[in-house]
Amino acid sequence: MHSPFPQRGIYIHVPWCRRRCPYCDFVFEVGQACQDYAESVLNEYRTRMRLLEATYRAYGIAMPPLVSIYFGGGTPSMLPAAQREKIIENILELEKRDSQDLEITLEVNPEDVGERFIASIATSHVNRYSLGIQSFDDRVLRGLGRAHSASEAKDALASLRNWGRVHMDLIIGTPFESEGRLKQDISQADSLGAHGVSAYSLTIERGTNFDKRVESGSLKVLDDDDHADAYILAQNLLDEVGYRQVEVSNYAKEGFEPVHNRIYWGRGSYLGLGPGAHSLTLWNPLNSVTASTLHFCRSANTSDIQQWLQLWKDNSEDGLIIESREHALREKRSALSELNALSVKECWRENLAFGLRDKLHGVCAADLAKRLQLEVSSEGQQALKHVWYNFHASQWIEYEGATLDFNTRVYPTTTGMRFLDAMSRDLLTLEFESVQ
Ligand code: SF4
Repeated sequence: MHSPFPQRGIYIHVPWCRRRCPYCDFVFEVGQACQDYAESVLNEYRTRMRLLEATYRAYGIAMPPLVSIYFGGGTPSMLPAAQREKIIENILELEKRDSQDLEITLEVNPEDVGERFIASIATSHVNRYSLGIQSFDDRVLRGLGRAHSASEAKDALASLRNWGRVHMDLIIGTPFESEGRLKQDISQADSLGAHGVSAYSLTIERGTNFDKRVESGSLKVLDDDDHADAYILAQNLLDEVGYRQVEVSNYAKEGFEPVHNRIYWGRGSYLGLGPGAHSLTLWNPLNSVTASTLHFCRSANTSDIQQWLQLWKDNSEDGLIIESREHALREKRSALSELNALSVKECWRENLAFGLRDKLHGVCAADLAKRLQLEVSSEGQQALKHVWYNFHASQWIEYEGATLDFNTRVYPTTTGMRFLDAMSRDLLTLEFESVQ
């Protein structure tokens, strides 16, 4: 049996930051990284890999190849280098892989890129840096409450360019814009040699400092039309300097497209380690696999950092012995806070919706069904064809070849990238019978 996943990735969450940015609701604590974090991450990794290997064995399927390790946060550049390298080396050893064959990404905050940090990455296995620049404009950085200055951002990008690929984050649609800011930021990114850019719209998350300021009227944010204008402007400006759009917010120079992000859009399997990390894996519920039906599971680790640390301090499997989401939530000692089983049909629908975000590779319904061993009824194929026709009439998708049907590979257009949520809604609710 072929693997239902083309690739596999590992995400490691590092839940510490030096300060709290006023717009952020990620899972983190303000303070230093704990000294034995690497050991806890590796305990979780080894345990979950043992369970995953048993699941693949039960199905008689080879595990898909690991292609990426990604340290996200929080602020992963705060994790001591020895801990970071220990995690990477242990994973490489267990996977029997060489770091040159994988994309190994570290998220970095510009204020961390000093002499000591550069010395630590000179001998590191990391080969890609995701740099949280957000803007090269000091006014925007101050407004966002960031800890770095524009000149630190430029220096960090120039330094990291010597040690690997550099992808930078840019925030668009902030209340602190000045005339031409976005154009200047993108031009700087290009001239300083960033290989890729993520242009994220500022969103106001509930409970954050920005949320309270918006409520009290002391912060005025852009309306939806202004956000849409900022998004289109970013699309155009990035395209002008050769950053191709690869996903909703993601742009890259040709040949430097991120591997890790494609695992999410191309529906690879990902294993999330650390508090709050999410996973999508093959699943063997109650050890009751029947060879003919695949089961999948989407799960989230507890975002209670202390609880997660306590559970994985020792090499314990207690945290994962759960059978349902209800069980996970009831069982306070569980390391997971969410566990959602996905049927093959649900997985196919999700794959279509996520795959349609992939501007470069698009998505083919027939290929996905084959990979998941799902036989879609002729009514189901017709229903999908109808959806594709509607999207095409709205100029949201384009397609390969002469006919648009179940076997056609479709791609979102530049316009369609702004309507992905609407397209996803239609695909996720597509009703059809499968022929198993
Ligand atoms: S550094 Fe990043 S993760 Fe930490 S508070 Fe700021 S935006 Fe959030």
